[in-house]
Amino acid sequence: MNEAPTSALLSVAVDAPLVAPLSYSAPDGDASAFKRGHLVRVPLGRRKVEGVVLGPTEATGAFSVKSIDSLVSEFPQIPEPTLSWLEWLSRYYLYPLGQTLALCYPPLKSRGRGSRKSSPIPEATAEVRVSLTEEQQQVLASIRAHPGFSAHLLHGVTGSGKTEVYLNLIADTLAAGKRAVVLVPEISLTPQLLRRFSNRFPGQLAVLHSHLTDREKTEQWWSMIDGSRKILVGARSALFCPLADLGLIIIDEEHEPSFKQDEMLKYHARDAAVMLAKSHNCPIVLGSATPSLETWHNVSLNKYHLHTMSRRVADRQLPTIEVVDMRSERDQRRLAGTASNLPFWLSQVLYEQLSACFARSEQAALFLNRRGIAQSVFCPSCGTSYECPNCSISLTLHGKNHLVCHYCDYHERLNETCRECGSLDVGPLGLGTELVEQDMVRLFPSLRVARADRDEIQSRLDLEQMITSMEKREVDLLVGTQMIAKGLDFAGLTLVGLVMADVGFNLPDFRAAERSFQLLTQVGGRAGRHSEAPGRVIVQTYNPAHVSIVYSLQNDFVGFATEELNMRRSLNYPPVMRLACLRIIGNHEARTQQAAEALGRRCSLLQQQKQPYQPLQILGPAPAPIAKLRGKFRYQLLIKSPDHARLAALCRQALGDEKWLPSGVKVLVDIDPMNLL
Ligand code: ADP
Ligand code: ZN
Ligand code: ZN
Repeated sequence: MNEAPTSALLSVAVDAPLVAPLSYSAPDGDASAFKRGHLVRVPLGRRKVEGVVLGPTEATGAFSVKSIDSLVSEFPQIPEPTLSWLEWLSRYYLYPLGQTLALCYPPLKSRGRGSRKSSPIPEATAEVRVSLTEEQQQVLASIRAHPGFSAHLLHGVTGSGKTEVYLNLIADTLAAGKRAVVLVPEISLTPQLLRRFSNRFPGQLAVLHSHLTDREKTEQWWSMIDGSRKILVGARSALFCPLADLGLIIIDEEHEPSFKQDEMLKYHARDAAVMLAKSHNCPIVLGSATPSLETWHNVSLNKYHLHTMSRRVADRQLPTIEVVDMRSERDQRRLAGTASNLPFWLSQVLYEQLSACFARSEQAALFLNRRGIAQSVFCPSCGTSYECPNCSISLTLHGKNHLVCHYCDYHERLNETCRECGSLDVGPLGLGTELVEQDMVRLFPSLRVARADRDEIQSRLDLEQMITSMEKREVDLLVGTQMIAKGLDFAGLTLVGLVMADVGFNLPDFRAAERSFQLLTQVGGRAGRHSEAPGRVIVQTYNPAHVSIVYSLQNDFVGFATEELNMRRSLNYPPVMRLACLRIIGNHEARTQQAAEALGRRCSLLQQQKQPYQPLQILGPAPAPIAKLRGKFRYQLLIKSPDHARLAALCRQALGDEKWLPSGVKVLVDIDPMNLL
């Protein structure tokens, strides 16, 4: 029944860095066999590539059109809601559609068959059913009251039982014959977590994360597509599994910056997931003890429904947090005159608590914040940090005494004395996990220490071994970076020390205070989760009045968020304004700088010429804080805008056809950037 004339041409988004889709004819001239969402093989130049059919298109020019090679029939059509979501992603993040669509397919094109040796999912053991707390029941009832698309923030303190809420919502979804996707930060995808899901839903779980082999990923992908599994738990990229009957999305630890991909398609999985839920008309639940300000802002705009759980399950107490002022610690040591036997980074209070903890045969953890490698400068006498007068972010030290703002390119000379108190101690902050480990072993010679940082924990196996040795109590002290501050849950851990909180405040990033608040709260959430006595957290700082410390001490997220949002508003930062980062990267320093300046001029010119762009702000170009990475020079340009539409339009027009770019230099667009290093 081909009464409608089968349009001769089909529009295909090919897996290549092309802005627009291409037109192909159907083999034998019969386009009716090719539906929107079909995967096809097509010729491109001398190569054959894959592409996704978008639909019929009109013939445009007289040039000869090539024919589609074949339909890749093993793969199902991408369901319409997912396909329109992918088109949105490509437009929103300015990334080629064909390459966006390519993320929907498993790494291996042939379906994995044959013997499966080991499953990435732990065996299900019998689960102990719990009766829900009052708070859990209330939250469930109010989420269930919103059928269809609705976005929910579940703001629950650590240990309030958020996972139990997720499990109940998933059970609803399966009962309705639909499937659920649960995204968690890669680092939290531990056997401990998977076991909680697979115990409740034996045989129903699939898992996707970057540490699986290609064969495993392909098997897991198919088990969701063919319907043999119903719940997909994974890291951010699991969102791209093209499920037809999606009924629920959950994003746990929604504030985690690792949900943002920094390369290729620079999507934020949380924001992308909200759009995916919208196109599938299903609910989405964002969970966190310390919601991102983006999400909190959306709550205040009534875009997301807020649900709060303010108590730990079984009335377990939140940890007691104690702040140690390292300035007075240092003054006391100076007054005492005798050299302390304690290293400079360890206060008397923390030392005594550690001794007591080890004497009780309990476990302790010491955290160091080592995010980013940019150098920021501060004064240990008065706690002053050196900030840009325009941008209110830390200046970065270049060379010996050259301070630079990498947002707006403000420059200043670093004097030898502190501009506030005249002290001579001004300098970069620095302390590593190795030094902490050495000092601790010197103080406690029989101590069994495990170190967890990027050098020590490079694979999932390393992480799992570390977890096992903590669980088996083969370790007394864990020394680690913020990478281990999240999600871990050890019965014997009762004392947590944050060694130098200031490193976090002084990062050259407008989100530094937010990150610090999150870290302080999450770190606190690690201690005493199982014991009857509350855990103890000790925060050492040179700046005890910092907003992130003051509010996390009172466990006051709302107070923090209100104050921080006011700051963001007054400085035109996200989430009040939208931000794009254009990063200019090249092999040759002068050429890269010239290209960055040229791009800056193109942006300014557009702004002068076009009235709608007037409210936008263009900052820089400036050298990126990591000014050279893997042999390439890096500059950046920041653009602030009241809305996304004008931001994306300006970026698109400023880039143009990119023919103005010198060879060896490229521009990467990052919409809603999280990482500005
Ligand atoms: P969160 O994700 O909010 O930090 P979890 O979901 O991990 O909290 O719950 C903390 C602990 O409390 C877990 O060990 C969990 O099994 C337990 N738990 C959760 N809900 C209940 C309940 N209703 N009754 C008893 N224990 C519960
Ligand atoms: Zn000072
Ligand atoms: Zn600045």
